[in-house]
Amino acid sequence: MFVDTALITVKAGDGGNGHISFRREKFIPKGGPSGGDAGTGGSVIFVCEEGLSTLFDFRFQHRFEAEPGQNGAAKQMHGGDGKDLILRVPPGTLVFNNDTGELLHDMQRGETVTIAKGGKGGFGNEHFKSSTYQTPREATPGEKGETFNLRLELKLIADVGLLGKPNAGKSTLLAALTRASPKIADYPFTTLSPQLGIAEVDAQRRIVLADIPGLIEGASQGAGLGLEFLRHVERTRVLVHLVEVQPQDESDPVENYRMIREELRKHSQALYDKRELVVLNKIDLIPDKAEREKTIKNICRELELRMDRDVIAISGAARTNLNALLERLWKELNPADEVEGWKTPVSSA
Ligand code: GDP
Ligand code: MG
Repeated sequence: MFVDTALITVKAGDGGNGHISFRREKFIPKGGPSGGDAGTGGSVIFVCEEGLSTLFDFRFQHRFEAEPGQNGAAKQMHGGDGKDLILRVPPGTLVFNNDTGELLHDMQRGETVTIAKGGKGGFGNEHFKSSTYQTPREATPGEKGETFNLRLELKLIADVGLLGKPNAGKSTLLAALTRASPKIADYPFTTLSPQLGIAEVDAQRRIVLADIPGLIEGASQGAGLGLEFLRHVERTRVLVHLVEVQPQDESDPVENYRMIREELRKHSQALYDKRELVVLNKIDLIPDKAEREKTIKNICRELELRMDRDVIAISGAARTNLNALLERLWKELNPADEVEGWKTPVSSA
């Protein structure tokens, strides 16, 4: 349903060419053949890595080549082998030959698979000598490394589900956080198909977010979300519940929040039980700082939410506090990271 794809070309290294030469040494008048064998080209190897969740690394680079083998040389010198090229992909990546459509491999956790094999190096003329054939003048060229046009496909699982009333600002936030470009409009029920985006906390840390639209559009009566989508978002680990601090339709934020919670409860116990971060949105609509803080405090008190743990105030449109939001989400998703860097002091006693 949500599929990340990438089209790339991989080329393994060509084998080096065998060498032709004869020994020319002072006291050996008729030197025998001495051309060395060549090195094997490097292969393109896929490694399936646990921590990866997207094919993002293949968005910007499309051609990947392993090193060729070195040619053989005089004095029986063997050419060096080319270095393999390692490409890291997330679990569940399907590797297709894009020219034939053939599935080459379904990458599973911990697997290492050679996708394009490096060409064998050629033989030098020394290889061909025998008792009856003392002066071979032949060497063989290296084999070509394999080349494939590949299509990589990965079913994305969202880490974070975004929900809230229509107009809460889900699409705007998703667009601001990620490279997705969901539909945005001024009226409810805009986003009828689910949207997925990838947010970059920084170059190493990425979060996949899914807009969960239309939860209140009769969802618990079977309309609204499709079952397939529901199953998908039930696999998210954290929910972001967007609440307008000052709803444009003059409804009450606290009631809005409860209404969505109630819909969730009716609709999916799995979602209802999930860890939820309440994100008070559109704080730009209350420019006065004191008034804004008071409003936020009141909402938290009524909902019995802890400001430091359960709530964050942002503006998706004005891009206020978005980094803080991503950091909070990252911590929720990777609780172990929090203690990283903390060193237990060594007692000197
Ligand atoms: P969705 O229905 O939850 O996906 O909401 P949208 O992202 O489509 O936004 C609904 C409306 O609210 C649009 O007119 C947006 O321009 C507006 N909006 C979204 N985020 C903000 C915000 O942070 N501040 C303000 N003032 N308006 C916003
Ligand atoms: Mg929307």
